[in-house]
Amino acid sequence: MTTLHPDFTLLAHNYVRAEVQDAADFVGDSLELARLATRTETPYLVVAGVDFMAETAAILNPDRTVLHPEPCSSCAMALRLAPTDVLAALAAHPDAAVVAYVNSTATVKAVADICCTSANAVQVVNSLDEDEVIFVPDRNLAAYVAARTEKTIFPVPATGCCPVHQALTVAEIRAARAAYPGAEVMVHPECPPAVQAEADFIGSTSAMIRRVGSTPAATVIVGTELGMIHRLEREAPAKRFVPASPFLICTDMKMITLASVEAAIATRSPVVTVPGRVAGRARAALERMLALPGL
Ligand code: SF4
Repeated sequence: MTTLHPDFTLLAHNYVRAEVQDAADFVGDSLELARLATRTETPYLVVAGVDFMAETAAILNPDRTVLHPEPCSSCAMALRLAPTDVLAALAAHPDAAVVAYVNSTATVKAVADICCTSANAVQVVNSLDEDEVIFVPDRNLAAYVAARTEKTIFPVPATGCCPVHQALTVAEIRAARAAYPGAEVMVHPECPPAVQAEADFIGSTSAMIRRVGSTPAATVIVGTELGMIHRLEREAPAKRFVPASPFLICTDMKMITLASVEAAIATRSPVVTVPGRVAGRARAALERMLALPGL
């Protein structure tokens, strides 16, 4: 339960503002928050993140009330894909399985066979019987997976990407390396493949946290959303963390403020609802992921 109120658990993504992370019961990536939401017992969950994260918490916790402090906070990548786009891809590739990155709407998850996160995408794809996979909605994460599996990957949409990570450039990585000789460069798999190729380490935010615990580098150049710097500084205070670019800001994540969290708790709103049929099908795709051994 959060210190803000005993009836509420506050779940915060690694990309939200520092003061919201500091007030949260749990801070993590999408997979961690999805898991943690099912392990808490308060009647209310408050999700400090974008809307698909609040939807996911509501889908996995149908007997509890999930609040999203700022309903306008949406993932720009998720919004670019409709379930009809997935069905059209399935018509073109009828033997393929559909893997939906959790950064997708509930309606897209509802037409997927299984979900994945950036932390487990390769394992999820390799767990499938099908040789062909329609991977939605991030082409960069799809490329990361395709390089690490024997499966044939069809990214849908072909232009799908996170606008924050897509903006990171090879020139920025090289400039950061020149400015901080000896530093380790970590980037997220939502970054373009050319940027990934420049990095010393590619991984989800949870993988980055594990990595900073073992890297010998005293300085780490961080190629993901800037909120992660605060999380890493808490995890490894002896190290120096430098953003790979000043432009790695997800404004939707930053819409969640401590004031909006407090208002949500005070008013017990806005409540997140997902229509029953959509929620049931999306839950099946999420639970199939969560049930995989070792993830
Ligand atoms: S950082 Fe990118 S993928 Fe994450 S919520 Fe923002 S727009 Fe979506």
